[in-house]
Amino acid sequence: MTTPSTKKNVYLTFDDGPSINTAKILDILKEYNIKATFFVVGTANEHSKNLYKRIVDEGHTLGNHTYSHNYKTIYASEENFIQDFKKLEDHIYDITGVKMDIMRFPGGSNTRIPHKYSDEKFMKRITTKMLYDGYQYFDWNVDSKDAKVVKQSKDVIINTVLDGAKHNNPAIVLFHDSLPKTTTVEALPIIIEELLKEDYTFDVLHKDSFYVQFKK
Ligand SMILES: [Zn+2]
Repeated sequence: MTTPSTKKNVYLTFDDGPSINTAKILDILKEYNIKATFFVVGTANEHSKNLYKRIVDEGHTLGNHTYSHNYKTIYASEENFIQDFKKLEDHIYDITGVKMDIMRFPGGSNTRIPHKYSDEKFMKRITTKMLYDGYQYFDWNVDSKDAKVVKQSKDVIINTVLDGAKHNNPAIVLFHDSLPKTTTVEALPIIIEELLKEDYTFDVLHKDSFYVQFKK
């Protein structure tokens, strides 16, 4: 008799890039032949444009994380949110030819930040609208804690992710690839090697993937 095997899946996701750390993360992913999902924001310099293209060319997925990531602006009204969201959609389409249909709300979909700028029903309305308009949004069930402080300890990131993946299958792991997140880059190869040892399958998010959405 063979032991029943449970397939273990993990989705690595990186928010707030591109930055110089995105290039390093892409190098690591290439080395292990692993694909990931990048919820990017808007920047217009040549370095960033090349990174958006590289993400696509190397088989990863791009998701919309709004152009400005500016809570005060995007969460002040639905019109503001849509305008900023579409600005990134057009920007990415112009550079890569990809029409993004997956997204992540800055701060996550249960963020209480909009309450400061709008009303308590704001997230409920905007999430409903985005789904209605054909987008899928993703929160996470494993937070690497790399955004809890400016520069998180590499060991905290490693241990948090490995422990989180043990308790969530599939695991959608939240990382950040913005400029200060150098310890995320340092932790990544160790996390990947440990998960490979445990027979995890790495996958990218797409519109019909397994998803996590926080309660509003
Ligand atoms: Zn973010």
